[in-house]
Amino acid sequence: MNGPTTDRNTEIKAFLIAEGGVDIDERVLGRITTPASGPGAGLKSFFFRFNGHRVRLGVKHDSRFKATLEGEQVVIRDHSKEIVRGYLEDAIAHCPEQAFITVSEICIFDCSFCPVPLLGGSIKDQKDVETAISRILADPKLARNLRAIALTSGVRESPQREVELIAAIIRALREKYDLPIGVSVYPTPNSTQLLKDAGADEIKYNVETTDHQLFESMCPGLSLEFIIQALKDAVEIFGRNKVFSNILVGLGEDDDTIITGMEELIEIGVIPILRAVVEHPLRSKKGLRRPNAERLLRLARKERELLDRYGLRADEAKTMCAPCTGCDLMPHRDV
Ligand code: SF4
Repeated sequence: MNGPTTDRNTEIKAFLIAEGGVDIDERVLGRITTPASGPGAGLKSFFFRFNGHRVRLGVKHDSRFKATLEGEQVVIRDHSKEIVRGYLEDAIAHCPEQAFITVSEICIFDCSFCPVPLLGGSIKDQKDVETAISRILADPKLARNLRAIALTSGVRESPQREVELIAAIIRALREKYDLPIGVSVYPTPNSTQLLKDAGADEIKYNVETTDHQLFESMCPGLSLEFIIQALKDAVEIFGRNKVFSNILVGLGEDDDTIITGMEELIEIGVIPILRAVVEHPLRSKKGLRRPNAERLLRLARKERELLDRYGLRADEAKTMCAPCTGCDLMPHRDV
């Protein structure tokens, strides 16, 4: 197979994301990751690096793509046709190059696309997080590759209690480590200032969808208007290129809604992360439709255009999903 062009590599990544995973013999994989947060929580995956791109691939035995290990390389075929070859990449904690830790793997809210409330995961305290990071730093290979710390969390008791807990953990980490720290939580009236004062460098508040009707029906008890206001405040306090928000693609919204929503966020200085929905076995798939590669490419290219128009740079991010790029087509890195 000839080396694919750069555009072709982006298309390959889009096809892999759209499919959601590859059929692979799990025994050939080193560290399989099982994310504890977000729509793909609880599903097995691994990281694949090829031609300057990174993608997180689910282990999906009914996938159209089959991956095999050939020497050091992983080769992915579509039926019998080779489409790409690359390498496995180890995660440090959740993803490569970051200690990305989910503090509360539970949630009192019940967004209909998110499996976290149904997984009954563990909860960590400050000591658990500090221990996890000390263990990473005690391993020379992991320590050498560690570029950032990131924390995310469901809500164990109340959004305010959660933010206070996370702020205390960040304060402790800030005193010990000279690494960029990112944080992703549900906002509260003073969360932005609290987390900034604690030492966070970047922040993410997820709108999940910018379709107001869909948001109301899918995220009972949460407020889209409040999240958008919190994002505006976050840009004031953290600055441009340091505030992020996930927009899920495939909840039933149309492209115009996503593009208008992206522009609203970009206009106020927020970098959207376009995330394909996961049709999770624990959640009803009603209304959900994982976007195809063409849709992902179209929306990512539009996002790149909007970011350029408003002078934002996704490749300046140091923490969380924008530098990782595993799950998304990231402007300025993939497109
Ligand atoms: S893109 Fe974000 S959610 Fe996906 S593996 Fe990377 S850090 Fe995790």
